[in-house]
Amino acid sequence: MMKSVPIINHPDYVAQIGDDHRFPIKKFGELIKILKKKNIAKDHNIFQPTEVSKSTLLNVHSEEYINKINNLSLTQEEIRKLGFPLVSSVRRRSFVATGGTVLASKLAVKNKLACNTAGGSHHAFSNQGNGYCVFNDVAVAAKYLKNKYKFNKILILDLDVHQGDGTAKIFENDDTIYTVSIHSKKNYPSKKQSSNIDIELEDGMEDEEYLNVVNQLLKSIETQNFNFVFYIAGVDVHCNDRLGKLNVSEIGIRKREKLVINHFFKKNIPLCGVLGGGYNHDFEQLVNLHSILHETCNDVLIN
Ligand SMILES: [Zn+2]
Repeated sequence: MMKSVPIINHPDYVAQIGDDHRFPIKKFGELIKILKKKNIAKDHNIFQPTEVSKSTLLNVHSEEYINKINNLSLTQEEIRKLGFPLVSSVRRRSFVATGGTVLASKLAVKNKLACNTAGGSHHAFSNQGNGYCVFNDVAVAAKYLKNKYKFNKILILDLDVHQGDGTAKIFENDDTIYTVSIHSKKNYPSKKQSSNIDIELEDGMEDEEYLNVVNQLLKSIETQNFNFVFYIAGVDVHCNDRLGKLNVSEIGIRKREKLVINHFFKKNIPLCGVLGGGYNHDFEQLVNLHSILHETCNDVLIN
């Protein structure tokens, strides 16, 4: 077993969407830098993904939609819903970041833990992109694992502040993939879907109450024998986030990652971590908050 957590990164995670875009796309480039600086990502544990194959994508997305992304031919209305300009670097990033989550999930099967430095595009539906999400990378990787390893119970634990609506919809009739979302009640998307478990939080929730909700949730699903866990570690629950409505501190996020990652590690259930959202007012703080996922996985693995 590898001593450090496998970290998946590609320079093309950073797409050219313009420096004044509301989405902080540069965080993906800065995150790997800070992980190297903290000595969490070293030469031997950084893995570069390739573009996800069309056949793997087809397990979740319609051919028509995949072709539209490939040919950069979404309608204006579809581009508006997506929130990104549909340029070739956005196409490239979508394929390579989805390939990254697939690779991370395979490495997690081998190493118990692995993390992408992107991913968590949970608002993407099978034939439509939404809210900065082109392909639902976690859904695609979950289907990939299910087919490859014959897993019959995969958990998708989504702690991004927004509901994982795309994921919930994709798996609404699939009882081998169990979807859980803890999210802000009054936040995007306005039309929620039904996950296996949805927990809605009131505005302004603070560390203690939030961590209590997460802890209770983990206890409530404890007896289920999951083969594998995808963890969407959105940091838009942070008090300084532009889009979140909660009041969770950096210490709270640190405690959350420890709680979740330790919980499954102790049970010997492999876990693949992906970023999820983060739109902090302070860019440096944002990158640092995202790095807590990788740092915590690394600490759990080496201790
Ligand atoms: Zn979010």
